[in-house]
Amino acid sequence: MRLSWEEKMQIDLNSFCDPGRYKFARPWSEGVYTYAANGHILIRVPRDRLIPVSAEAHRITDNAEVVEWFDLEPLYGWHALPVVTVARIECPSCHGVQGCDCGYCDGDGSYPEDIEPVVVGGVPFSSHVLEKLGVLPACEIGVNDMTSPSRIRFKGGDGLIMPIKP
Ligand SMILES: [Zn+2]
Repeated sequence: MRLSWEEKMQIDLNSFCDPGRYKFARPWSEGVYTYAANGHILIRVPRDRLIPVSAEAHRITDNAEVVEWFDLEPLYGWHALPVVTVARIECPSCHGVQGCDCGYCDGDGSYPEDIEPVVVGGVPFSSHVLEKLGVLPACEIGVNDMTSPSRIRFKGGDGLIMPIKP
């Protein structure tokens, strides 16, 4: 699939990275795809020439089991991504001062409420994960069983997410 520049710009791969995890700290390219992952979500888009191959990055093609999931028809079908909004709780330590040096909220002034299970196609997913997927255009979830990754697809790419443990 060829994407226009505008379509590519809609997806900020960095928002799917985890700066605290070495292998997932930034997007990386491998083969015909560019990937981003945070341990809960793995997304891939057609290779972005500006994003390099990285020796430090997770190597997706080393994990044949993961790659296979991209091609398997989901057991419980495709479902529209539900709209999920995670409420934020004012930090009790700094009382909501953004840019503070409070270690409790990392300077955000608030933090997200706890993860809630949100059931899609009979399988529970993390409210935090589903909220994050909300930026992906026309995102759908291809639901597999509780112990396997489920698929996601959106305008411009696809990916995998894990359900939450019951
Ligand atoms: Zn705080």
